[in-house]
Amino acid sequence: MRQFIEQLKRIVGEAFVSDAAEERFIYSRDQGTMPPSDPDVVAMPADAAQIQAIVRLAGQHKVPVVPMGGGLVLSGLTRPLKGGLVLDLKRMNRVLEVNALCRYAVVEAGCSEGMLQAYLKKHHPDLKHSMPDAPPIATVGGNMLIHGSGHMSAWAGYHTDQLGGLEVVLPDGELARLGTCAVSPEWFGRAPLPDLAGLFLGWAGATGVVTKLAIKLFPRRPFNDVRIFVCEDAELGAQVINKLTGVGVIEDMTAWMTPVPAWANGLINFNAVYSANSKEELTWKRELLSAAVGDLIKQRVGGFMMLPPPMKKNFMEEPASNLAKFADVKKGGGFEYVGAIMPIDRFAQAYRTGLEVAERHDVAYSLGCRVIGQGHAMMFFYAYAFNRADQADIARAQAALEETNLAALDMGGIPWKAEAPAQKQIMARMDPGALALMGRVRAMLDPAGIMNPGNWEAM
Ligand SMILES: Cc1cc2nc3c(=O)[nH]c(=O)nc-3n(C[C@H](O)[C@H](O)[C@H](O)COP(=O)(O)OP(=O)(O)OC[C@H]3O[C@@H](n4cnc5c(N)ncnc54)[C@H](O)[C@@H]3O)c2cc1C
Repeated sequence: MRQFIEQLKRIVGEAFVSDAAEERFIYSRDQGTMPPSDPDVVAMPADAAQIQAIVRLAGQHKVPVVPMGGGLVLSGLTRPLKGGLVLDLKRMNRVLEVNALCRYAVVEAGCSEGMLQAYLKKHHPDLKHSMPDAPPIATVGGNMLIHGSGHMSAWAGYHTDQLGGLEVVLPDGELARLGTCAVSPEWFGRAPLPDLAGLFLGWAGATGVVTKLAIKLFPRRPFNDVRIFVCEDAELGAQVINKLTGVGVIEDMTAWMTPVPAWANGLINFNAVYSANSKEELTWKRELLSAAVGDLIKQRVGGFMMLPPPMKKNFMEEPASNLAKFADVKKGGGFEYVGAIMPIDRFAQAYRTGLEVAERHDVAYSLGCRVIGQGHAMMFFYAYAFNRADQADIARAQAALEETNLAALDMGGIPWKAEAPAQKQIMARMDPGALALMGRVRAMLDPAGIMNPGNWEAM
């Protein structure tokens, strides 16, 4: 390891390599419930060429390499389960290109969501990207590669649906560009070529290190609004989502159910966010949404909540600060959620399951979902906050998360950004052909087994 570290310093510079105990402590954990796992060393490369050299060196020394963006995934995917090197990509944070007319941006993988948002507000105020609600230091790469979702997901799907191509360092140190950028100077999409980008999406860094990516941009319109449809019967959830998204105007749709504040307890709230180029267009869209759920309003089983403008502002914040506040509700900074990707017709079942699990384990919870596409799927989240200084509290949250993961699978859903133990639960139920193919892909790309080992080990 000593020799490896010395050579690493020659590649990235002494200032950007550390094996100090305090650094290894920080990089051994995240805010979630997974136990810490120490790296041997941490490095911050400046560019793709340095990553190529590092990965080649790691291959020679058989040292595991764990790519990391913001380290905010919460499910422990950047903990080096078998030790080795954490490759912190935060120095690679540039916005490389914005093609305003064709509505895409090319960024380095370590560019944070906050930096891209700030860059666009300054240089292209009429454009935005789909911002997740993660703290803004989360990276565009880290979020994209786990199939994240955000404020344009009801309009444009998962963030991976908004990926226009990528550049990746393969586990043998070779560099590849995938998508239109493989052939053309433009990064405007992944069709019509064989779509190799999928080899790196959802893999938790176990197949390569992504160094650049292109992301779709959307019009940032001057008039914005949110409407909140409220009902008490979870059985109506799928219908509400189906009817409201069917209008085709919603950019972001989330549901939230929380026992605090007391007035919200028992209510199921559906936020529908939309925007327009004029007041008239906004009013027209508002009326379309009313009409879509007009039958439910007539039956008096639900209705739109009146919201004073200052409150609306909170609900349209990007990223929403309410979730981050809940994340620390117990103080001590412990927070993790099961985000189960499910069809929307599981809404009521998913909600009931969340209440039952939270009650059984006596945990602080918040339930909700983000709609992906026009009702094509949802990321139903079961968020549990805990105090990291309280071992009993951590154990309760961990037990609740485990049970929720299994319940999600039983409901026909799939835990998103699954922790290593949940990955095993998923693979245990996977079609054998798919599992074998995953194993073959991994073995072919990374025969030395150095990329984020311990994750998605399908062999
Ligand atoms: C309060 C809160 C709210 C959240 N809300 C949302 C939300 O609305 N939407 C959402 O999608 N997520 C949300 N999250 C979850 C998570 O924080 C984000 O998805 C986050 O964007 C992950 O990005 P990251 O840079 O922190 O990734 P990391 O945690 O650094 O990495 C995630 C995974 O990707 C791999 N990886 C990272 N970079 C690379 C790379 N360049 N090449 C190869 N592999 C790589 C890592 O090894 C790891 O397996 C939320 C989290 C919190 C704490």
